[in-house]
Amino acid sequence: MSQLPGYDDTPFLTNWPYRVHDCNRPQPRIVTPGAPPSSDCILPAPSDAVMLFDGSSLDGWKSRDGGPAGWKVENGYMEVVAKTGDISTLAEFGDCQLHLEWMAPAVVIGDSQGRGNSGVFLQGIYEIQVLDCYENPTYADGTVGALYGQTPPLVNASRKPGEWQSYDIIWEGPRFDGDTVVRPAAVTVILNGVLLHHRWELIGATGHKKVGIYEPHPPVGPLKLQDHGNPVRFRNIWYRPLTGYDTP
Ligand code: MG
Repeated sequence: MSQLPGYDDTPFLTNWPYRVHDCNRPQPRIVTPGAPPSSDCILPAPSDAVMLFDGSSLDGWKSRDGGPAGWKVENGYMEVVAKTGDISTLAEFGDCQLHLEWMAPAVVIGDSQGRGNSGVFLQGIYEIQVLDCYENPTYADGTVGALYGQTPPLVNASRKPGEWQSYDIIWEGPRFDGDTVVRPAAVTVILNGVLLHHRWELIGATGHKKVGIYEPHPPVGPLKLQDHGNPVRFRNIWYRPLTGYDTP
């Protein structure tokens, strides 16, 4: 194995000279984002936004087994409680503009994928990585903002652990005709005001140490947040459906 985090024994990604989580894939260049505004949230919701988490409760969320979400809510944010599992919205939606804010733990513990790891799963199965990547090398396709296991972000625009960070994501879900993918999912991701992906196509659902594939599913699904064992915080989560943009 290489000294760098990652793998040299996983399958190759289609049309790329790199393996899934390849330890030799080039690291994204580091960009220091501008300072956030000194307000309670980085981007207040516009008038037509659907609020998914306003800081007050997890009533609109559920655990893996369908019961109440086990994460804690305090001071206007939710925080992962390790081993309570991923949580998902009761709401299901497809193509959207999604905004959320998150914070990696101020107390730094672990390294690589073990530090401040969580994830934002569009339609419940397509992960945009959440990770504390401030002075924390990891495999490129596991960097914060990566389409996990597929495509590294254009740059590493991390803020320091303990600082709020923002995601603005434009999601265009896949379309299926029976078992055939007639349009792959495409995503635009902005972290802390810095572009990470521009309408980049996904090769399939997120997997670990395997090449993602598509399996047919409805044009809507929940938003899922990952319990990877680290007390990552989230706040100010909302979306705007892209109605009229395309037909399912
Ligand atoms: Mg993750």
